[in-house]
This record gives sequence, C-alpha cells and structure tokens, in this order.
Amino acid sequence: MKISFPRMGNSHIAFKMLINNLGHEVIVPPAPSKQTLDLGVRHSPEFACIPFKILMGTYLETIAMGAEMQITSGGVGPCRAGYYGVLHQKILNDLGHDVKVMVIEPPRKDKYGLFKNIRTVIKPTRIGWRAFWHHLKTAWKKLVALDEIERILHRVRPYELVSGETTKNYKKALRMLDEARNQEEIAAARVEGERLLRGVPCDFSKPVLKVGLIGEIYVLIEPFANYDIEATLASMGAEPRRSIYISGYTKDSYVSHGVHDARKAAVPYLNQLIGGHGLDSVGETVLMAENGFDGVIQVAPFSCIPEIVVKSILPRVSSDLGIPVMTLFIDEQTGKAGIQTRLEAFVDLLWQRRRKREAKSVV
Ligand code: SF4
Repeated sequence: MKISFPRMGNSHIAFKMLINNLGHEVIVPPAPSKQTLDLGVRHSPEFACIPFKILMGTYLETIAMGAEMQITSGGVGPCRAGYYGVLHQKILNDLGHDVKVMVIEPPRKDKYGLFKNIRTVIKPTRIGWRAFWHHLKTAWKKLVALDEIERILHRVRPYELVSGETTKNYKKALRMLDEARNQEEIAAARVEGERLLRGVPCDFSKPVLKVGLIGEIYVLIEPFANYDIEATLASMGAEPRRSIYISGYTKDSYVSHGVHDARKAAVPYLNQLIGGHGLDSVGETVLMAENGFDGVIQVAPFSCIPEIVVKSILPRVSSDLGIPVMTLFIDEQTGKAGIQTRLEAFVDLLWQRRRKREAKSVV
C-alpha cells in the first residue's frame, strides 16, 4: 500500500521509517509551501483553521504522488480537531479520490479502534505484533532524538558567531538521523548530531533574551505555518523555548495522559480542558514567568477556539506575574513582513524592560 501522512516539523523522518519498516511504500509529504496552502484553501471550508487547510493541501499533493492512504492523529476534548479526519475524508471523496484517511485516536478514546487500525496496516504485509512493537519503538527513538537535536538548535543558535553555522550543522544532524536504520545507529547519530551542534563557535557571554513560545501544536511546530519564528527570534538575539515537541505531545496524549506541571500551574486561571492545547498554554505561561523568561509569544491559528479563550486569560497572567505576552494569530492572509515587524517591536520592548531591571538592580 502507498501510505502518506501530514507533515509537521521534522517528524516525517521518523514516520517515514516506521511505515517503510512495516513493509509499505511511503509517499513522503513535501514540505508545506504556498502552493500547498492555496490548494488546501481552495478545497476547505472558509471557517476551517489553518492547520486543516495545510493538511488538506498536503493530502492532495501526496494523492497526486500516488498515496492510497493517509494516516493522521485524532483529537480529544472540545475542539474541531476531532472532526478533521471525517471532514478530510468526505472532501477527498467528493473530489473523486478513492483514498482512506485513517485516524489514530488515543487509546483512552477508542482502544478497540486503535487496535483495528494497526491491524489494518500490519495485516497485508504480514508483520506480527512483536515486530510491530519493535519497529514502533525504533521510530519512537528517532522521534525523541529529532526533538532533542532541535532543542539544542534553539539553545545554541542565538549565540553563534557566524550566522547560519548552527542551521548548517543542524541539517547535517538531520541527515544522519534520517540515514540511521536501527536503534544503535539512531543513538550514534544523536550523539554525533549533538556534538556537531555543541561544537558551533559561540559567544555565550552575549546577552540574549529568553522568549517562551506557546500555542496550538501545528502552528508552533511547523516552520511554514509560523514563518520560521524560531530562526527569526534567534536572529534578533532571542532564545526561543517552545512549549510543545511532538514526542512530548505523543507521550502525553497517547501514553501517559495526566496532570503534568503546566496543567497544575494553570489552575488559578483555568481549571478545565478547553480543547487543543489551551490549558497547557496558560500553564506554560505561568511556568515561564516563574522561571524568569523575558516574555511569551502565543502562536495560534486565526479562529482557533481554545487559543481565543487562552488569549482572553493571558492579560491577567501577564499582569499578575509581570511577564509581557504577545499573540500572533495566523491565517492564509498573514504575511511574513507583518510577523517580522511585530516580533521586532516585541523584542525591543523586552530589551527595554531588561535594561530597566538591570539599571534598578545596580542602584
Ligand atoms: S486546536 Fe485550534 S487550530 Fe487546532 S483544531 Fe482545534 S480549533 Fe483548530
């Protein structure tokens, strides 16, 4: 079977390996582009949030490349994400595409459905459950390594002496991880990737702002959707700390759904699930304020209900805990220049506050 999936950040490197190991042909989704978005916008309801539209465009692009099945994740809680799969399936069928959209739901939502979906994928290639488990574990290690390498990229890049050096080494590290075929090779590639990134010539005495990034998972992780906000911030002398990585999200949603620190921290402001990453966005802002961050940027799709609720709560968190917060809502009308200008203004404001604070502590 020819299988594809939505692309988000660098996770396709791990998912590609998993599907290949399960004996299927992978149609690797191309990095989302203006063309992907235009295609998605043309075939999506106008009110749909931007991740829906980019996914729609990606499905159509990979169908044109031969994909017969799309595997995607589901969603729990009061948010539209739970309907994505059904709606994508219906639109694709209405457009005349005989393709299956398989939604992998968290086991707590539908244990039997999860089992049935996995069986549908492994049965045709006669992969046993033991082998499936082994391949899943290997892909998981790759996903965790990809996230770890990316975390180091964000820490190192604002301090680099030669512009572009960290990104160049990061790309090398990604290639090594992509080529790793088993758990030993993944572990070795991760060590070598970390060594490459930590070896970038840097000036760690340089003053740098610490800026938290919170919001909806897709626009936070996919650089096309957020106009590469992490690289832009680094070029402005700010170290971005993103609140969500795919491995953390997967663990939280599919394995150990529990009350983690961010959800506990959110309680004085919000104490119930509102869908998406709303609760986490509030809690992460509290934790970032408590951990001395200079500011927080909320990145969210325009019309994203959970993040609209979060936006209405954040001014209180900001004034209680003394942390500046800015919201960037993103849709297909958003332009890079607008984002750049707002980021510059926010970073300027954070520098002014930092200088004032430092001046006060000298007096
Ligand atoms: S979290 Fe927001 S963007 Fe994501 S599906 Fe829900 S409403 Fe849409």
